Amino acid sequence: MQSYITTYTEKRYITYCLATLIIFLIPFVKINGNHFFLLSFVHQKLDLFFISFNTQEFYLLPLVLIILFLFIFFITTLGGRVWCAWSCPQTMFRVLYRDAIQTKLLKIRKNINNKQKQYEGNFIKNIIALVLFYCISLIATSNLLWYFIPPEDFFLYLQNPNEHLLLLGILFCTSLFLTFDITYLAEKFCIYVCPYARIQSVMFDNDTMQVLYDERRGGLIFNGKTKLHKKPLQGECIGCEACVSVCPTHIDIRAGMQLECINCLECADACSKVQEKFSRPSLINWTSAKAMQTQGKVKYLRFRTVAYFTVLIFAFLMLLLMGSKKEHMLLNINRSSELYHIEDKNGKKQVSNAYTFLFQNTDSKPHEYYFEVSLEGIENGLEIIRPKNAFVLQAGEKAKKIVILQATKELANESQKDVILPLYIKAYAKDDEKVVIFRESIFAYPKSTLLN
Ligand code: SF4
Ligand code: SF4
Repeated sequence: MQSYITTYTEKRYITYCLATLIIFLIPFVKINGNHFFLLSFVHQKLDLFFISFNTQEFYLLPLVLIILFLFIFFITTLGGRVWCAWSCPQTMFRVLYRDAIQTKLLKIRKNINNKQKQYEGNFIKNIIALVLFYCISLIATSNLLWYFIPPEDFFLYLQNPNEHLLLLGILFCTSLFLTFDITYLAEKFCIYVCPYARIQSVMFDNDTMQVLYDERRGGLIFNGKTKLHKKPLQGECIGCEACVSVCPTHIDIRAGMQLECINCLECADACSKVQEKFSRPSLINWTSAKAMQTQGKVKYLRFRTVAYFTVLIFAFLMLLLMGSKKEHMLLNINRSSELYHIEDKNGKKQVSNAYTFLFQNTDSKPHEYYFEVSLEGIENGLEIIRPKNAFVLQAGEKAKKIVILQATKELANESQKDVILPLYIKAYAKDDEKVVIFRESIFAYPKSTLLN
């Protein structure tokens, strides 16, 4: 015999477990010493997809945020508020607190199928539930912080609490706020605080997936917001209100789609169990308004979803392209305030220019660095006087080098004014041919009257 019972709630629980496991483990996974995602202000670096970027490469961060927003737009247009019930931490923690701790573990609430009824008393049990959830909040907040302070540093800092009072303050206060939010604000957060609930409605169209009561089959119960009957005069709804009592946001979905609905589909599951007794499918379905009207299928491929998806893929490719252009070393060049220096050596005038080179090893391993210089159209015109030898920089290390370049021959013969020559610098790691960058500067050469 065909079963009409839907199991959205169980599927949500499985999704929660997988999401929690992934979010929890990701900060511990490292490839070549880099994390999947880490925004570290202490180390001044951004790890993205196991590639480390320096603060000077933080231009990638806005692109990551753009991709995140585009993904939310795309998912909302396609699946409605699928994020709210299936991935939002607020909903996950509410299920953990209300259904697991309060109902199953401590039996403060008597029934998982009635989320409307408030249970008074049980003072001690409520305190235990709060303490238990605060402990879970500490773990959850730590998990969040690991995306900004890598776990290896985090646990080291906790061993020296006196030196890391700010971290402890953030940890305990955020956990306290999370406990307040989940145990007191509860679904009021979704209804009154969360901005996503408000903006998502403008992304909806007639083909967007929603949780809808099939009035054609079930019968008319509401006229607008006015409830006409508990049970329709005609239709398959038996007026049991199992769908109402199970709703965590305390709404009656038979009144139509509402801002408060987080798409958890618990009402659909509840109704499917009731209708199963009559060998009929649930009166509440996860479908689009158009599909329900036409009794057809949901149209997933449409202009808005394809457009969002295309832009999303384009932004993602841009991120990959920009990420692949990552430089494994950084070099900033500043000239000294003195335009040039003229030195008399054995009756011969020597011209030199001084620079400050700021090197940084942005790779995850040490390298030995040096550089070459050249002038446009003049071969072997310059000699590196300082530094004479290559130098080693550890991973992430910076070094300031005073660089003196000296002309090896007459570079120009201009009697009226000094000559500015384009200078090309190639800096590289001697032990890795991939690590190479090019910079441009100038070499100032004095007018001939100063040299003769
Ligand atoms: S659970 Fe189904 S049958 Fe019962 S009131 Fe809700 S819609 Fe009607
Ligand atoms: S109406 Fe249904 S889907 Fe919407 S929040 Fe209530 S139980 Fe969840």
